[in-house]
Amino acid sequence: MPPDPAELDRRHLWHPFTQMREWQSGHPVVIVEGDGALLRDSNGREYIDGNSSIWTNLHGHRCAAIDDAIRDQLGKIAHSSFLGLTNEIAPRLAERLLRWINGGPRAEPGGWKVFFSDDGSTAVEAGLKMIHQARQQRGEPERRVYLSLAAGYHGDTVGAMSLGHSRLFHSAYRSLLFETRETMTPFCYRCPHNRAKPVRGSDARDSRQCNWECVGEVETALDDLGTAASAFVIEPLVQGAGSMAMHPSGYLRRVADLFKGSGVWLFLDEVFTGFGRTGPMFAFQKEEVRPDLVALAKGFTGGYLPLAATVATQEIFEAFLGDYAEYKTFFHGHSYSGNPLGCAAANASLAIFEGEDTLASAAANGSCLGELIQRFWGHPNVGDVRREGTICAIELVADFATRARFDAAARIGFRVCEASRDFGLITRPIGDVLLLMPPYCTTRKQLEQAVDALWRALNVVLPFA
Ligand code: PLP
Repeated sequence: MPPDPAELDRRHLWHPFTQMREWQSGHPVVIVEGDGALLRDSNGREYIDGNSSIWTNLHGHRCAAIDDAIRDQLGKIAHSSFLGLTNEIAPRLAERLLRWINGGPRAEPGGWKVFFSDDGSTAVEAGLKMIHQARQQRGEPERRVYLSLAAGYHGDTVGAMSLGHSRLFHSAYRSLLFETRETMTPFCYRCPHNRAKPVRGSDARDSRQCNWECVGEVETALDDLGTAASAFVIEPLVQGAGSMAMHPSGYLRRVADLFKGSGVWLFLDEVFTGFGRTGPMFAFQKEEVRPDLVALAKGFTGGYLPLAATVATQEIFEAFLGDYAEYKTFFHGHSYSGNPLGCAAANASLAIFEGEDTLASAAANGSCLGELIQRFWGHPNVGDVRREGTICAIELVADFATRARFDAAARIGFRVCEASRDFGLITRPIGDVLLLMPPYCTTRKQLEQAVDALWRALNVVLPFA
């Protein structure tokens, strides 16, 4: 008998974002196979992958085109260094990606440079170092301060944590982090300036009553900082780990307008929102803004392999050009930069977008989910039901009228997601916010099953008459 992986895991492993004492006394689900939107465990049970394997998977598991592309690449070489060499596939991928950044597969690819790394955190870390160094090399060393949003999450490396503002995730590391200027999150449901009372069945963004104080805060920060301001870093449209805070339409456009002519750069963290999650290929395309730098990861390879990109304008890139002895080089990189297997997967994923009009099917999938989740308004402890593209969030509250939260120690969201496994759904909450965003290939029937499983699980944990 081969050793029981669950037992080996308990004995030897340390899992991310996991209280290991609890883990060691539990019985982990061991995933052994995937097929489209389904995950299969070691007991043969099937689950819908309700959070796309932590927001990465797009076209489903065992997607033939991506499998084949990786196999073909394996037949040539798995990895060779990107330091002092290039490979066959990374340049092709960069060109394809830049067409999409510029509007679609037939757009011209110019105006940008792509820097490859491995994960969301490394894409953000590279971006913030690029900007910092560019400022010095452009003769603007006073531009040192990053502005970023409250409840932002940009990854777990020290720089990325400095740009984020999560008390739960970052407070233990506070003394390691550098100062940034925090501005309020434009999240209408929990906004202190929104005077509208909650209304069942209505997205808080549509019924909000305010004076765009969130934009006003950015304007004040810009005035205060003057030429010390370097870049504004934001997860556009949706702050993922910050409770799936969905921004009111027009916020990004308004802040981008504030920066015009100010010399402050717009640094978009599209690690989560990229590759169709919010509707268009990239969230910034929804509000027609032009960023100066974009960080991409997660869905880049269709959810197959760790590959990330930091995409910078030609203007930023040119700050690094010079003679060798000027030492303007970007002194940053990773052993697996431009990894051919990752690039092959990403290239195949983009080819699927082009050949199968994935954005249209994702949009249809998103509106179907949007209709199905309206059912949650029928539960008294549901405070908000929100959706952006294929991302759905259901926020649970102790009191609908006051939006009061449950005691965090009660772990309501966690318990609902645990219970949903019994009904064939795997997803992971953020606090008491339940998430549904299965891969784009999920069938209508599977979407119905997923919503039904979450609804039944909610009613196990919080039954109502
Ligand atoms: N940026 C955003 C917006 C994210 O949501 C995440 C991860 O959830 C990251 C960065 C970090 O990405 P990774 O976990 O791949 O390092």
